Amino acid sequence: MENRLKIYNSLTRKEELFVPNEEGKVGMYTCGPTVYHYAHIGNLRSYIMEDLLEKTLRYLGYDVRRVMNITDVGHLSSDADTGEDKMLKGAKREHKTVMEIARFYTQAFFEDCGKLNIKRPDVVEPATNCIREFIHMITVLLEKGYAYEMGGNIYFDTSRLENYHVFSGQDSDMELLVGVRDDVEEDANKKNKSDFVLWFTKSKFEDQELKWESPWGLGYPGWHIECSCIGIKHLGEYMDIHCGGVDNIFPHHTNEIAQSESYLGHKWCNYWFHVHHLNDKAGKMSKSKGDFLTVSLLESKGYDPLAYRLFCLQSHYRKPLEFSYENLDNVTSAYRKLRRRIGELTPEGEVEQEKFADWKKRFEDALCDDLNSSMALTVLYEMLKADMNDSTKRALAESFDQVLSLDLLAGEADGADTVDGELEAYVLSRIEERAAAKKNRDFAMADAIRSELAEKGILLEDTREGVKWKKV
Ligand SMILES: [Zn+2]
Repeated sequence: MENRLKIYNSLTRKEELFVPNEEGKVGMYTCGPTVYHYAHIGNLRSYIMEDLLEKTLRYLGYDVRRVMNITDVGHLSSDADTGEDKMLKGAKREHKTVMEIARFYTQAFFEDCGKLNIKRPDVVEPATNCIREFIHMITVLLEKGYAYEMGGNIYFDTSRLENYHVFSGQDSDMELLVGVRDDVEEDANKKNKSDFVLWFTKSKFEDQELKWESPWGLGYPGWHIECSCIGIKHLGEYMDIHCGGVDNIFPHHTNEIAQSESYLGHKWCNYWFHVHHLNDKAGKMSKSKGDFLTVSLLESKGYDPLAYRLFCLQSHYRKPLEFSYENLDNVTSAYRKLRRRIGELTPEGEVEQEKFADWKKRFEDALCDDLNSSMALTVLYEMLKADMNDSTKRALAESFDQVLSLDLLAGEADGADTVDGELEAYVLSRIEERAAAKKNRDFAMADAIRSELAEKGILLEDTREGVKWKKV
């Protein structure tokens, strides 16, 4: 197949033609959420744009395998190994165990993703599943001399690398600046400022709940090691494309490259895709600043989560996007009009094949231009105005929606026809069992059924008219 996608690569700081290691196949990795709280819509912007990238690759004909980790251990409130353990913070806040918190917020994350039509990655792996793999990688790094033990912890020795600051050349000051947070305090065990923890045994977290035996004592992994291990475990030694938000570039992705390439002895990942921040007038929006904006909050204010998806698609992933309710109101009304316009199409006659192919190519060209989603939307609007029959327009809208995922044709069908009968019967029986459990006040059982279905990509929604479900 022909490689047509041009994409900006943070590693070379250039737009490049995307050429996978193996023709027609793409191994794609996404840094997953730290499941200690609900996802902020700013983080979800990254997942929406990564979903767009995955679906674009599939639309162009690639066979994509996508892997995502779930961080349920080891991530401190500063990405640079200082501050509190995020999971522990969540557990204390809610008087629950870390694993209860992890389960609850993993499910909440995928429910949000479902509402935003973000496809579930092919592989989703929690960090706590892979402790043995982490220990193995750290052991090899120690043997090769890339790591050292100090004060009971194992650190990666960044001075052993020729080019640790891969994303900015040798401009270490710049990247360090990006990594600096308000609450950074120096760790006296580190030989070099940029060294980072691979394994914690002794730390200030005496009450750390999750600990495992290791050659270095009872402890737990650092945050960065999980993505290197989980990526290599499921995608092999050569990864095509690695995604994340821009704030992952340093230190997280820099450290992932340091670990993986020192361990493997060769280049690991060819393309690095980073999505910019969601801002408000005051700057970057986050959990800790201002309104804690979640998908549920938007819904409670009457917004359709897919209007937020459209809001994200309207602007380029490499530009900061400014959020305001006024902007979202405008998008909401544009979204309604768009769906109505498509719902009003009256398909009669045959699809005009030549015109279909021509518009499909225009749509692909927009996406192939560094994922120019606003241009792709313009192609959709122009297509609806163009001179061709409604059957062709409807077929094109349906086709574009494989990538845009805006439920553009939802006005006319309920989507149930895409689900096979066997699955439907199974889901309905589980929904009945859940209702029975709830009636018996067995809420643990009801939750377990919901989780079980969520793991299979089936999302339940309790509405006034009863339980609704959809497959994502
Ligand atoms: Zn990661």
